[in-house]
Amino acid sequence: MTKVFINGEFLDEKDAKVSYEDRGYVFGDGIYEYIRVYEGKLFTVKEHFERFLRSADEIGLDLGYTVDELIDLVRQLLHQNNVKNGGIYIQATRGVAPRNHSFPIPSVKPVIMAFTKSYDRPYEDLDKGVFGVTTEDIRWLRCDIKSLNLLGNVLAKEYAVKYNATEAIQHRGETVTEGASSNVYAIKDGVIYTHPINNYILNGITRRVIKWVTDDYNIPFIEETFTVDFLKNADEVIISSTSAEVMPIIKLDGENINKGKVGPITRQLQEGFKKYIESHSI
Ligand SMILES: *Cc1c(COP(=O)(O)O)cnc(C)c1O
Repeated sequence: MTKVFINGEFLDEKDAKVSYEDRGYVFGDGIYEYIRVYEGKLFTVKEHFERFLRSADEIGLDLGYTVDELIDLVRQLLHQNNVKNGGIYIQATRGVAPRNHSFPIPSVKPVIMAFTKSYDRPYEDLDKGVFGVTTEDIRWLRCDIKSLNLLGNVLAKEYAVKYNATEAIQHRGETVTEGASSNVYAIKDGVIYTHPINNYILNGITRRVIKWVTDDYNIPFIEETFTVDFLKNADEVIISSTSAEVMPIIKLDGENINKGKVGPITRQLQEGFKKYIESHSI
């Protein structure tokens, strides 16, 4: 039986229920993380939980857990569900209280929930590349928080699905921000460009790993904004996320990137990323 973690307990899936008054359910008032598991080990888990605690802090939520306690928690769940390759989703909401926008008084305990998934690395997509479409970024101005409020991202992703693409690449006006659930990079003349870390994008852990890889290979990594037009004329385009890793985009809005082939810098980054899987999983 698959186990789900809710508020300190490992429950059978069928018993894993939360209240209709949970603020995550009625307001999307909470935050989450998604952590990759390779060969039974947690990849860059410390970085993920540091970000989790930061997201919590930014919305005034005290989880009452340290990074090490969170690692211990998800490790137990991994073992219970016998996950070898896959991932762990974990979220925290502001808890259960009568519906009222402002924070509950007296405050209530956050509701923490986690479940696991088992699946392999996306080998075929990594090898062949996927399609992207561009769409206006209609999200709020705190995209640095990994919030449960994902309506903007959901609508963007659905737009991608409608046009047979894997990812929707969002832009505010002419400025490319990020994907619905990934960070975005344009590669031009051997240089990688990506949106700087600020309130307009989520500070991806995979983005950080890519930055380490570019350091290793002496590839310039420029954290500056660029336009949709620049992206469309790039030599190579990639997106990155915990589940997509270093994913090539070979067609954007129906137009080929690099003649529809995965480019050489992308291959280097994928190669470099693989080494970090080995060195940064615990
Ligand atoms: C989670 C997420 C990413 C990717 O972050 P990773 O830490 O690399 O998984 C990028 N953009 C958004 C909007 C996200 O929610």
